[in-house]
Amino acid sequence: MSDSLIFFKFFTVIKQTLTILLCGLFVTVQAQRNCGTEDYNQNILKEFPELSGRYGRTNPDQLLNEKLKRLGGVIRIPVAVHVLYNKEEEKLSDEMINSQIKQLNLDFAAKNIDITNVPGEFKDRVADCQIEFELKIINKIKTEEKQFLVQFKRDRRGAKVYKPAYEPIKFSSFGGKDAMPCAQYLNIWVGNITDGSAGQLLGYATFPGGVCEYDGVVIYYKCFGQSTSYKPYNKGRTLTHEVGHWLNLRHIGGDKPGGCGDDLISDTPPQKGGSETARTGNGEGQNFGCPVHPFVYNPDCPETTAEMFMNYMDYVNDECMNMFTIKQKDRMRSLFVEGGDRASLVNGVSENKQLFVTDEKRTDNFTPVITDFKKYFHCNPVTDTCRFAFVFWTETPNAKEYKVFAKKVKSATWETIITPNTYIKLDELGSHVLYEIKVQAVLNNGKLSGESTPYIFKLKGNNPFSKLKDLKLII
Ligand SMILES: [Zn+2]
Repeated sequence: MSDSLIFFKFFTVIKQTLTILLCGLFVTVQAQRNCGTEDYNQNILKEFPELSGRYGRTNPDQLLNEKLKRLGGVIRIPVAVHVLYNKEEEKLSDEMINSQIKQLNLDFAAKNIDITNVPGEFKDRVADCQIEFELKIINKIKTEEKQFLVQFKRDRRGAKVYKPAYEPIKFSSFGGKDAMPCAQYLNIWVGNITDGSAGQLLGYATFPGGVCEYDGVVIYYKCFGQSTSYKPYNKGRTLTHEVGHWLNLRHIGGDKPGGCGDDLISDTPPQKGGSETARTGNGEGQNFGCPVHPFVYNPDCPETTAEMFMNYMDYVNDECMNMFTIKQKDRMRSLFVEGGDRASLVNGVSENKQLFVTDEKRTDNFTPVITDFKKYFHCNPVTDTCRFAFVFWTETPNAKEYKVFAKKVKSATWETIITPNTYIKLDELGSHVLYEIKVQAVLNNGKLSGESTPYIFKLKGNNPFSKLKDLKLII
């Protein structure tokens, strides 16, 4: 165990004790939403000055507007959910996880049942964001960590310090779970998190353009789900809010202290809502609880006659937030145009709907996990073959190569091949045939890892080519 790890463990124990004491003293403070995103990202521009243009994309220029128009259609984002549990109650059911993703999709599509609560004057700003989230991977992992302490640390210049020890939930070696590739997935970690403060940290997110291994959203397990018992954060809106950050949205009232708050979005009113207690704590200037429309708090914003506290990017209770605006939608979707910071997620999306569920216990770091599937219908006139697909899997540390098994589901015989890559091409696939594939790592010491969970797929559509054979594996 390294010195830093010992220090970290020691520090964790102290912090946990401190947290328990503070919670005992200030129970009422917990009623306030605590989003860590701004703390996390506050000085990211100092560290990554090249991001400054990205934050400026609030009101898209003409070129971006044209690109946005061309983007068209619904953007689908593959999602990996990592549930880290120590106690059984922290091990969320598949139903709960699915319900949360369902609510996320409803909220982003403006299909949430409480959309009718949007006040009349804001109704024409409501956006169906045309962004969908596709649950591809659920990892449930038992951990020795009773609580994950998130530390928002900065160096002397004020830049955020990235260290696995400060975000242990994101790293397998610290009792958490390593991210899936950030270019292909929205990573969501769920667990018993704390930032060591009196108020329960509900979640936090990274803005686009940060460090890949840290990219994603972290959510406190009690507020993950469409309908939980954790009032008033019991309707899954913590995830909606944090994914908003992940897609480059700021808090509705801006995050700078004092004055009239601006989130750099033109169709949300300038506002600096909240209460005096809110102003002194985390989330300064946001609205809390459940205000009654029309609500105006800040005399510094004389032109604002009603604050948009019901926007998902404010701090109100789950049951009182219900909309994104059209300009927020543009800001989010601009990440997916050509050259955008999250464009790779769109390109990486497969049409395949299969859900992967990994073992519920951590066995080792060596068993590959099949993570992606891409199919192609192009044909090669020279070889007269067509219908091929690629299958991708996670890299195994200490692997010298991978053994791939593939067959028709109905067949008894596996085709096998050895490859040094973490993907394989499957060629000469027929239509309407179920295929099955699995992968095993061959480690440097000659031993074999466990076999991946098999992946089953089918190519649909008519097959105009008669010379298709069973299946061919190509490295
Ligand atoms: Zn937030």
